[in-house]
Amino acid sequence: MAYDYDTGNIFAKILRGEIPNDTVLETEHSLAFNDIGPQAPVHVLVIPKGPYVNWDHFITGASAEEIADYARAIHAVVGKLGLEPGEGGQGYRLIMNAGEAGVQEVPHLHAHILSGRPLGKLVAAG
Ligand code: 5GP
Repeated sequence: MAYDYDTGNIFAKILRGEIPNDTVLETEHSLAFNDIGPQAPVHVLVIPKGPYVNWDHFITGASAEEIADYARAIHAVVGKLGLEPGEGGQGYRLIMNAGEAGVQEVPHLHAHILSGRPLGKLVAAG
């Protein structure tokens, strides 16, 4: 399955510096920033800097270096925010939406890190 990457998507514009973002953490291959419409007291998005539509596109097309950087960037955000359960943090939820059933709205891979309150059931009705 091939993916067409839309260079006009909002996260591509953020990566090009065309629109601002509230950066939480930046690495060589990844960027983390606060979600503009937070669904919880903590709502951070972590994106790879490369042009990948979703997780499947990324894991099949990215280099080992990009993949390692992205995985570590997610962990680094969790650590920076003090959320890691094994370190006394309150924990978090990590979500990646993909495609129609996943209701992915922005076609650039992003992981949502949500925390700051008990988040309830994983999937809401509707
Ligand atoms: P999706 O539904 O694609 O998984 O999530 C897209 C997320 O991107 C939403 O939570 C939405 O609030 C966030 N978002 C959309 N536009 C912007 C933006 O311009 N800046 C930031 N920081 N977040 C955005």
